[in-house]
This record gives sequence, C-alpha cells and structure tokens, in this order.
Amino acid sequence: MRKNYLLTPGPTPLPPQISEAMSRPIIHHRTPQFQAILKEATEGLRYVYQTKNDVFILASSGTGAMEAAVVNLLSCGDTALVIQGGKFGERWTEICKAYGINTEVIDVKWGRAVNPLDIQEKVKNNPAIKVVFTTLCETSTGVVNDIAAIGRIVKDTNALLVVDAISGLGAIDLKTDDWFCDIVVSGSQKGLMLPPGLGFISVSPKAFKLIESSKGSRYYLDLKKAKKALDKTDTPFTPAITLIIALNEALKMMKEDGLENIFARHKKMADAVRSAVLALGLKLFAPEAGSDVVTAVCLPEGLDGEKLVKTMRDTYGVTIAGGQDSLKGKVCRIAHMGFIEEFDIITGISCLEKVLTQMGYKFTLGTGIRAAEETFLKK
Ligand SMILES: *Cc1c(COP(=O)(O)O)cnc(C)c1O
Repeated sequence: MRKNYLLTPGPTPLPPQISEAMSRPIIHHRTPQFQAILKEATEGLRYVYQTKNDVFILASSGTGAMEAAVVNLLSCGDTALVIQGGKFGERWTEICKAYGINTEVIDVKWGRAVNPLDIQEKVKNNPAIKVVFTTLCETSTGVVNDIAAIGRIVKDTNALLVVDAISGLGAIDLKTDDWFCDIVVSGSQKGLMLPPGLGFISVSPKAFKLIESSKGSRYYLDLKKAKKALDKTDTPFTPAITLIIALNEALKMMKEDGLENIFARHKKMADAVRSAVLALGLKLFAPEAGSDVVTAVCLPEGLDGEKLVKTMRDTYGVTIAGGQDSLKGKVCRIAHMGFIEEFDIITGISCLEKVLTQMGYKFTLGTGIRAAEETFLKK
C-alpha cells in the first residue's frame, strides 16, 4: 500500500467533488440538460478569465488550444514575434514553424522574465509582425511574465497579443480584458483542478477580425465553427461531455472561493515552498520573477537531481517534477497549483528533506518544514 501525492505542474490533484462528477452516468450533448451545463461552464470560464470575450472549450490538451491560436490567426508566410524563455515559449515557435509562419524571437535567459520594452522595440521595427506570442507562467523555469505591461505595449500596435496561460490561469492574476489580451489559451489539468483533456481559448473582437480574414488552413480547430456553435450554446463536434461536467463543478468551487482568495492561497503555498528551500540552503532558479504557480529549485552541485525526483516518487509516493533540457538533473520543480493545501506542501518538503539527507546533502533535518510552518502561521 502507498499513498501518492502530486506536486507537479500538471496534472494536479483532483478534489473529490470532481472525481464524483466524472463518475455520473453519461448524458447526450444535444440536450437541454447538457446545454445548461455548457452555458454555465462558459460563464464560469469568463469569470476565471476575467473577460467578456467568448471562451471556447476544445477537446484537446493545452497545446491544442495553442495550435488553435496559431492556425486561426495566421497563415503560411505571415510573421509573428515569439517570446522564448523556456520550453513552453519554444513551443510557440515550433507550432509557428510547422505552419510556415516566420518567427522573430526574443530569447530571454532561462529564469528571467522578458523586458516588455524589448517587445515594443521589436514590434516597432517590424510592422509585419501580426501576433505576439507570450507565456504567463513559463512552467519549465517557474518564471512569471508581466503580461499587464506587455498588454499596454502591444495594444498600441497593429499586432495582437496571445498569452499561454495554461499554467497560471486560476492560480495567479490574469485580467484578460483589462490587460488587453486578445487570445488567452489554457488547459484543464493545472490551476483548474481537472484531469487533462480540455483546452480553452478566449478570443477578443479584434482577434476575431483577424480570424475572419486569415486564410490559414484549419478544420477541427476552426474558431469560426466554434463561434457559430457557441452562439447557439452548442459545440461543432462531440464535446468532452464528462470533462465539461467536471469543469462546471470546478468553476463553481472557484467562484465560491473567489479569485482573490484563490490567488492569495497560491501565494501562501509558494511563499512556504520558497522559504523552505531557502532555509535548506538551496537557491531559487528564478529569484526575481518566480511565480506562485511552480517553484524551480537549484539542487546542490554534484547531487543527481533525476535520482532525487525518482526516489521521492518511486520510494515515497511524492511526485515533483525534474528539470527539462539544459536544466535536466540540475533543478527540481515543486508545483503549488490547484487543489493544493498547506499540509500537501509540508508533506512535499518533508519528503524532499528526507531524500536530500539520504543522498548526503547536509543540513539540520526539519529546517525546511519549520520555515514553511512559520510562513503558514503568518497572517
Ligand atoms: C503544461 C503547459 C503546456 C502544455 O500543455 P499540454 O496540456 O501538455 O498540452 C503549455 N504551456 C505551459 C505554460 C504549460 O504549463
């Protein structure tokens, strides 16, 4: 017997109410019963997105919503600007390349946030840029970008702003409308406390104009079809009925908590993790722009980070994430997103301390837990 704990940046743990909702008998989607759920879920998404725009629900993982943004806005030969500072920024470039879209890239050092003024300069110097692709929380490094500042800059240009908020939405603040985000994509298995399988995409009227005129090839992910259907509270294809029922439950829970309280809870969890790892003598990979979503921790020189993550998972049932690409083995990433509470964090830190000790790293046992507990005791 073993109890498992998930502290990864997707999937995140499921509240029992969500598991229960998914065990209900399936219903048909072309029914008033499902329509009512779709309507409520769409409204709930608008609340979490802080938008009046349409928000479409796709049967895909988050990347499907990213691809939807690219194929609906752009076609072969168009130019886009991509902000890269980790794996997920790079994904925008990869998707654009797959569709023959020219990409200008701002390569931000991993662990840093983009300087919004660099975006201003790029867009000014190249009027061909139709879209700026950004990431709210770069999950591979734990960095959060200043989307509000980027939005203020991009709104005064001819370009549209697209934000990957796949990790971040429902965990940290993102004001889609007030920050002038034309398209925001997200997914179900991160801040929204659901299993993977749903992609979300919000579309501003300005973005719809470009979608109308764009000649890019698309079929399943065609947002014109999605809009026509949603205007009748419908979906163009069979929706992921069970997941949407669960989504509706999750959104109700979130509405009950209130966004401000949810963001405050995430900040508290993140503060506890940051104070714990610092107390253990470890360094934060993104000390300046670290998100309240996931924390990347630099591991001690010479310690095998992959082994640490594997031992925590396979021996003790506590799953955190390792580093990707150049960070492989050098950092671990502790997520504190979604259905995560104080004692999940304590468990995670306790396991980290145990395995670090077993691997020969020297510190006073309990130092990290104590720092986390002190953080939780603060108002
Ligand atoms: C998880 C994640 C993705 C990928 O989402 P999938 O659901 O795995 O397709 C993209 N961007 C960010 C920032 C993420 O955290």
